[in-house]
Amino acid sequence: MAYYEFTIKIADTFKDTLIQRLSESGCLGMIENDESLVAYFPSALDIETIKCDLSLLKTLLAKAGHAHELTYDYTIIPEKDWNETWKKGFQPVDAGERFTILPPWEEKRKDRTNLVIDPGMAFGTGHHETTRSCLVLMENYASKTARESFLDLGTGTGILAIAARKLGYRQVIGIDTDILAIDAARNNVIINQVPDVEIKEGSLYELQQTFEVIAANLISGVLVLLAPALFAHMRPGGIAILSGILFGQEDEVIKAMEQAGLTVREQYHDGKWLSLVMERVR
Ligand code: SAH
Repeated sequence: MAYYEFTIKIADTFKDTLIQRLSESGCLGMIENDESLVAYFPSALDIETIKCDLSLLKTLLAKAGHAHELTYDYTIIPEKDWNETWKKGFQPVDAGERFTILPPWEEKRKDRTNLVIDPGMAFGTGHHETTRSCLVLMENYASKTARESFLDLGTGTGILAIAARKLGYRQVIGIDTDILAIDAARNNVIINQVPDVEIKEGSLYELQQTFEVIAANLISGVLVLLAPALFAHMRPGGIAILSGILFGQEDEVIKAMEQAGLTVREQYHDGKWLSLVMERVR
């Protein structure tokens, strides 16, 4: 399989909207740098659809008086160059008090809890604020829970599930609707030597049990839809760490969660992103 590499220049103010749109339209991964956003798509995707999406955004920006604030270019990368492309963009990064996320080709840190992530085709390299926010909150709340069971809903690379196991949770499940994420997560479970972390294909509806902690780094719209199912899969006294919420979209997520029976315990900001800790009191 080959990949499209889109290099997109966009004004900072609109970057998050773009990131959200790209992830909704099948983007496999993004690398943000100072002057542009580089986004990868499988070549099996219809290039016209991607271009159409970008043009649409461009038109919307133009209508709002920002005509020249989005430009883009793309190339096709043969499969053999894919890993090299990733390597360039994937440097080790610290999260929270103890975690360092690093790719398999980097030397492990002796004084840190290493999360070794081979991104494959999945999201979750620790380079995104939302992943790091989840790790910070997981770390802060671990000692307040019995560490019995943890669900990573939308596991991507498996990063949060692996981190949960390393924080001492006994039963850990990572689940994702995307088969490419499943492959990446299973591979990372092996690399990190946490074989008892279970990676499943599907979503909440495939799971029968309830969990002490659920982490869900999705997007606001999906969180809203999943609110009742989230509640149903939480234990009384359990918490949900929700991320992927753009600043300004928190009210709709909080409303849906409260309607489902959950209570806000903490709001955590990182840049333009917000994460929520919700509790199922009873
Ligand atoms: N947990 C990782 C990855 C988050 S990306 C991290 O924090 O970095 C979000 C992931 O959720 C993607 O892999 C996507 O395939 C998956 N996803 C999206 N909607 C989902 C749903 N309804 N159920 C399960 N997984 C979902």
